[in-house]
Amino acid sequence: MLIPELLEIYRSCTLCPRACLVDRTKGELGFCGLPADIVIDCALSHHGEEPPLSGTRGAGTIFLSSCNLGCTYCQNYQISHTAQGQRLSVLDLAKVMLDLQKSGCHNVEPVTPTPQTPLIMESLCMARAQGLTVPFVYNCGGYENPDVIRMLDGMVDIYLPDFKYGLEKDALEFSDAPDYPRYATDSIREMVRQVGDDLETDNGVASRGIIIRHLVLPGRLDNTREALRRIRDISPNIPVSLMSQYTPMPKVRNHPQLGRRLSQREYRQMTDFALALGIENLFVQEVSSFHLAPDFDDKDPFGGNRPV
Ligand code: SF4
Repeated sequence: MLIPELLEIYRSCTLCPRACLVDRTKGELGFCGLPADIVIDCALSHHGEEPPLSGTRGAGTIFLSSCNLGCTYCQNYQISHTAQGQRLSVLDLAKVMLDLQKSGCHNVEPVTPTPQTPLIMESLCMARAQGLTVPFVYNCGGYENPDVIRMLDGMVDIYLPDFKYGLEKDALEFSDAPDYPRYATDSIREMVRQVGDDLETDNGVASRGIIIRHLVLPGRLDNTREALRRIRDISPNIPVSLMSQYTPMPKVRNHPQLGRRLSQREYRQMTDFALALGIENLFVQEVSSFHLAPDFDDKDPFGGNRPV
């Protein structure tokens, strides 16, 4: 049982590559600002994920507070740029997972579990002991410590990492994480070792495997090209969700490139590039000139989405 070993990491935190080495059990805070507690914003049935994850009854999404990346353009910035939220016990979170299953969700999917992994895994074990059978989806930003990912072997059914940056300079500029490409590559290699380089489905619903997400940033196509090359080098078979939904958030509204949406032409260039690399398991999106962003001040963040 690896839970005690995982919990020990809170004492000198290396849960992510920032390696803040703070003792979170004593109230010391690192980059993510999170204590050694579970802090969430909300949990809901989410129909906006990739079709095998949302299925017909929704993904069981648990939106956790804060993040270890802090991307300037994050569309979930209302919850990812703050460590405020509801503090839950391990038992409470296990109940949240069981309630999502009871309501029909096809899986349970904590979003950005990285800084809260040890306690989430303890909840998962508890929930499974109490009858949780739906797949557990690890939906993370890709800025992972490969040694921690190695400790999750056997516990995660589906990995859903981002591969945000192929270029160190973009990772530095937008997330202050110049070592992102290296850590994402090593972590995803480990994920693939555990669950394979494909997505297994049952009646169209994901049961095991991996999908890598990449959000195409406007005017930063070299970053996308390099990210896709790196993914291809891990395995061209990995399903890739190439996202076109970039929406400028307040912090970047005046940025010369990130202050606008992605054009159809840019997106088409990137899908063509992925296919030319041999990445054929592609999830693609429409490019719309009108986007909505979730509003986490609303009771249903995806119900009454605010235009931005
Ligand atoms: S999880 Fe938070 S405290 Fe731990 S290393 Fe990462 S940013 Fe630092």
